[in-house]
Amino acid sequence: MHTFSIQGARGSLLAGGPECRRHGRNTTCMMLRTSTGVLAVDAGTGLAAALNGHPEAESSGVLNLAVLFTHFHLDHVVGLPLLRALYLPTATIQVTGDPRRDWQSAIRGLIGGPYWPVDLHKAGATIVWQPAPQVSETLTVQGVRVSACPVWHPQGCLAYRLEVDGRTYVVATDREIGHPELDPLFIDFCRGADVLVHDAHYLPEEYPRFQGWGHSTFQGAVAVAREAGVGRLVLTHHDARRTDEDIDRLLDRARKIFPDTDAAVEGASFGA
Ligand SMILES: [Zn+2]
Ligand SMILES: [Zn+2]
Repeated sequence: MHTFSIQGARGSLLAGGPECRRHGRNTTCMMLRTSTGVLAVDAGTGLAAALNGHPEAESSGVLNLAVLFTHFHLDHVVGLPLLRALYLPTATIQVTGDPRRDWQSAIRGLIGGPYWPVDLHKAGATIVWQPAPQVSETLTVQGVRVSACPVWHPQGCLAYRLEVDGRTYVVATDREIGHPELDPLFIDFCRGADVLVHDAHYLPEEYPRFQGWGHSTFQGAVAVAREAGVGRLVLTHHDARRTDEDIDRLLDRARKIFPDTDAAVEGASFGA
């Protein structure tokens, strides 16, 4: 038994205003809850928004949380210092990042001076460092089989494949298409997934101005979903300026070419 949910659907910046409310305002976090604990992909502001205030993550409970970091751009990490459980001695937080990067320093550097008043090692929670699996290896976290695939993005980024209870979710929050070696690897990685959550930050007409910034359009996301035989595509990393109506229009255009498409909505869940 598990639930897979979107807890932060925005890219780069928090969204504001009532015209953005339906798709949510928080930055990237996808969350799998299993009988053993919580597995999050990325710690955008959505992580803190989802867990702060819940008994398991407050002083009355014991939190068993694992965070798989796709990369360390600010919109994907800023929720970790905001997470109240980080300051609880009863909490254990497993942190996973790309071992080809200086991933532990990226997190240690963020939580401490000059960016934050409390050093990570004095915060309270027990931190367990776990490198992400190499290509073609797997790791079991919270009863979930986890594999990772490098994708094209400035300073590098990982996509994660999560397999649990016979369901497969692939999360690729930040990915630009067009890399001759990484693209075929990624399509294989997505093969047969029930749900693919994929970057669709730019509209096709915006993309030429931002080529090389590391993001896709819905057309790029659909191309992967089709080629890899994915069951359902969920478009995410919504530009913070995009209103709910803008996202509805983007989704209509995507559904014309891949009907089994949704746009990520904060709080929405998929799966068993
Ligand atoms: Zn991002
Ligand atoms: Zn990024």
